[in-house]
Amino acid sequence: MTLPIRPGDKPPVPLPTRPTMIRGFTLACPVCGTRGLFRRWVNMVERCPTCHLRFERIEGHWLGSLSINTVVSAVTLLALVTVAMVVTHADPPIPLLLGVCSAVAVVLPVLLFPFTRTIWSAVDLLSRPLAPGEVDPRYDPQELAALAAERAERDRAGDGSGSGLSDPGPRTRRSDEPRPPRSSRPHDR
Ligand SMILES: [Zn+2]
Repeated sequence: MTLPIRPGDKPPVPLPTRPTMIRGFTLACPVCGTRGLFRRWVNMVERCPTCHLRFERIEGHWLGSLSINTVVSAVTLLALVTVAMVVTHADPPIPLLLGVCSAVAVVLPVLLFPFTRTIWSAVDLLSRPLAPGEVDPRYDPQELAALAAERAERDRAGDGSGSGLSDPGPRTRRSDEPRPPRSSRPHDR
């Protein structure tokens, strides 16, 4: 879906790192911060209802979140076994340890599932910026940067004639607009 960058194209504007990652860690859309992206904890909506980002940006997109989930679960299990070995001087109650580790191995990946998805989406968006048209223009950093540049340009141009807020706005009528014909008035004596 990502379009190739051709010579002369403006470089893509990246999302801000800190807010994007905070949104990822708090189950929010990394682009716009919308919450409620999951049904019954594990069913993620296909698109963000606000900015319209399609979360599965490319085929195989979720391998990243699966990797995060696997690594965190494995490290947690390893830590659990290590702590048990240290605390019991290398003589842990094997059935208890096996029971606890099995429960953790089943429950933890499910608990982590939605977090790894939004975290991975944030990481992916920071490493592979949004392509044109991938989200609603109101949330596209490229569009926002262009608007800000345009506003700055207007402000600079308006410096000579006073404040930069002299935009005439849509209420200005053009003087050369045709007026309704007077002949339609009834019986003008
Ligand atoms: Zn969004």
